[in-house]
Amino acid sequence: MKPMIDLKRQYLEIKDEVFSVLNEVLESSQYVLGKKVLELEDEIGKYHEVKEAVGVASGTDALHLSLKALGIGEGDEVITTPFTFFATAEAILYTGAKPVFTDIEPDTYNIDTSLIEKKITKKTKAIVPVHIFGHPADMKTIMDIAAKYNLKVIEDCAQSFGASLNGKKTGSFGDAGCFSFYPSKNLGAYGDGGMIVLNDPGAADEIRKLRNHGSKGGYRHECLGYNSRLDEIQAGVLLVKFRMIDEYNRKRREKASLYNSILSDAVITPVEKNGAYHVYHQYTIRSGKRDIIQQYLKDNGVSSVVYYPMPLHLQDAVRFLGYKEGDFPVTELVSREVLSLPMYPELEETDIRFASKIIVKCLKG
Ligand SMILES: *Cc1c(COP(=O)(O)O)cnc(C)c1O
Repeated sequence: MKPMIDLKRQYLEIKDEVFSVLNEVLESSQYVLGKKVLELEDEIGKYHEVKEAVGVASGTDALHLSLKALGIGEGDEVITTPFTFFATAEAILYTGAKPVFTDIEPDTYNIDTSLIEKKITKKTKAIVPVHIFGHPADMKTIMDIAAKYNLKVIEDCAQSFGASLNGKKTGSFGDAGCFSFYPSKNLGAYGDGGMIVLNDPGAADEIRKLRNHGSKGGYRHECLGYNSRLDEIQAGVLLVKFRMIDEYNRKRREKASLYNSILSDAVITPVEKNGAYHVYHQYTIRSGKRDIIQQYLKDNGVSSVVYYPMPLHLQDAVRFLGYKEGDFPVTELVSREVLSLPMYPELEETDIRFASKIIVKCLKG
């Protein structure tokens, strides 16, 4: 079976550098919050042209700790998209706040900003846009709405490392930008990890405290915190891969245009809006014949995955929020029609041509 992603191939290409950095960390015998984490925070902060960057244990924690540090909690409402990975809503719920879902755009699959203002109440405190599949959300409109209603903006950049809008990187628009280094993400570690980029030194210090049991050190605990630190081994691996990220993303974009050139007459191919730099965390097509296509790909030895088959508002875990089928027609339609195809920087041209031709053949009968 042709895989969705081949992490081993990438590893083999950078194996010597990885071994050398692992050896360095192991010999240093500093395994948590040491030099590598500081160096990675510095580099990723500069890359995003922000003042602060704080490494944490996962993308989920990046969202949770940012929301908390920015004052979101019990009784607050947070506007977000139902078309995302579950962790986006989980992080909001961890703070005691309520996620308020808003339907998406049918082309980018990001939150439809024309629907946001209708969802704002006296309790609304923040907006959490997700740059889904690596295409930036409409941050200009989101920041304008946030300014008008005095809301915080926490960007879920788990799928968008390196993406930008008119030259400005995702994560640098809002009050905080939250990244995941889960192995399959565009910048992936060899385990879990995450980072927050932001411009507010006060909020950054608050996050540093929260990630370390509410302590700035010296066994003095100012508040209840968490154990949510990025470890040195992951930071070392990420430093090696960070040097490659623009190249990795450039390669993903090349693969996407090759897919587009063969598939655009057969299915709905991904869009790239004016000014957007899409980093194709996923290459996702849309078709009313989605399930037939997926079966035909499988019969021909090609993997594909539905991200995401069930929107968040219909998940059992959040039934208490009271949503029902029909609440978000675009999200529900898209969930029935999307299909993500193999995508990673080292993916072979022949594999792209093969998968695409299978799809074209399937639809022509
Ligand atoms: C992966 C992901 C997360 C969670 O990141 P983890 O590092 O796995 O905790 C959150 N939001 C989105 C959109 C994601 O894709």
